[in-house]
Amino acid sequence: MAFLLQGDDVLHQVNPSPLPDPYWVAFSASAAKLIDIPLGQDKYPKDPKWLEVLAGNRLDHGSHQFDRPIATAYSGHQFGVWAGQLGDGRAILLGDIHGQELQLKGAGKTRYSRMGDGRAVLRSSIREFLCSEAMHGLDIPTSRALAVVGSNEPVHREEIETAAVCTRLAPSFLRIGHFEHYASLQKQGRLQELADYLIKHFYPECQSSTEPYLDLFKAISAKTARLVAQWQAVGFCHGVLNTDNISALGLTIDYGPFGFLDHFQIDHICNHSDTSGRYAYHRQPQIMHWNMACLASAMCPLLELKHPSEIAQTLLRTALEEFPKIYTNNWQSLFRTKLGLQTSQHEDITLIERLLQTMHDARVDFTFFFRALANYDSINLQPPKEARDLFNHLAVIDEWFKDYGHRLQSEKSVDEKRKILMKACNPKFILRNHLAQHAIEKAQAHDYSEVSKLLGILEHPFDEQEDNEAYANPPSIEHRAVEVSCSS
Ligand code: AMP
Ligand code: MG
Ligand code: MG
Repeated sequence: MAFLLQGDDVLHQVNPSPLPDPYWVAFSASAAKLIDIPLGQDKYPKDPKWLEVLAGNRLDHGSHQFDRPIATAYSGHQFGVWAGQLGDGRAILLGDIHGQELQLKGAGKTRYSRMGDGRAVLRSSIREFLCSEAMHGLDIPTSRALAVVGSNEPVHREEIETAAVCTRLAPSFLRIGHFEHYASLQKQGRLQELADYLIKHFYPECQSSTEPYLDLFKAISAKTARLVAQWQAVGFCHGVLNTDNISALGLTIDYGPFGFLDHFQIDHICNHSDTSGRYAYHRQPQIMHWNMACLASAMCPLLELKHPSEIAQTLLRTALEEFPKIYTNNWQSLFRTKLGLQTSQHEDITLIERLLQTMHDARVDFTFFFRALANYDSINLQPPKEARDLFNHLAVIDEWFKDYGHRLQSEKSVDEKRKILMKACNPKFILRNHLAQHAIEKAQAHDYSEVSKLLGILEHPFDEQEDNEAYANPPSIEHRAVEVSCSS
């Protein structure tokens, strides 16, 4: 199904560049289930040929013949500026198995590599691998990661590092940037093919509509609004929300300099190349709305097939106005659930906003706090010590704890029941930068045990996992300063 968009003008048929002497760095047995790879006792593929396939060294494997690997062309706005053609500069789509596209990231140069070497380094491949699987564990729509294959082949970044290939899985890797590409080249037919393909495979509910393309826009936009609300609720910062990194299926894709909030800081910037803070935590919803505006203008010619230009624009503009509403509804509902509130009351939003402001002022660990709050005693209006201890000025938070307790009492909240519900939506474990960094440093010394260990923990982020208590802790002061940039 990946191959609908045939033709030289939108894709490039290219074989992966061989990766010398590959070895396993990481493998996700859970992702492997999606495509039915038989695994051995060690939870790696039984058949060693898979290592060669996922390194990009062979294209045939049993019944799977990946005889037409491709890189696709897309364009996009980078940091708010039209960047023109980009495309899969280092990602090569092998083909699909059971409705999942297999894409090798870091598999060598393509027609779209521009100045790049087509490779990815071990560090960023491990980060993408772990975060994809962690997001899946958190129930957040995402591309999956099947494996990281390493090699001693040197790769030049700020320093010399080694190459790796991360295999990603998704029902489709189509992006907003694909729409923008065809629109910018005024390829009407391509635009229509792309929209029809998405409708047929992923948005079948639009098929019977009298306005299929408008409905497709609305559906993509709604999924995107829900997705960004989910990011905000777990403190996930994507880092590079350029239109070429935005999925047409509402998935989180293209993990680069992402970061989860440790301490809550509303304007946290995770990507240290983002000097203006365009993609800071609190700006993500606005930016995704802006990205949907880019999608709307790229899709406008499709509506003009049926309507005069002015009408087409008005229809899209009105549809675009739904984004903040859908986002806000989802955000409010997710934060109510995080607080264990089962009813919806008007003052809830003020209660949530007051909490976030107080957490921001005290730079309180986001994940640790919400998890600890599950132990609130609403009968005696007693906050859990481990939650209260995170604040240094107690007057404001004590006032909040009291109001929170009264709010819980007003809906006759049952502590034991609420605790279970809160723990099911407030993760104990997230991919903190310092944890990823520790696993990466070991892997750079050829010890991959920490990558597997983290994978195992992050697959079950809501479980108590008493043996892994240390992985739930906020970073110590010296571990806070891990910096990530676009170079990967
Ligand atoms: P990103 O900021 O990671 O989304 O990348 C933007 C564009 O640069 C995409 O078209 C990537 O495929 C391309 N790109 C990034 N790194 C490389 C690389 N090492 N070699 C070739 N292309 C790259
Ligand atoms: Mg990208
Ligand atoms: Mg990237």
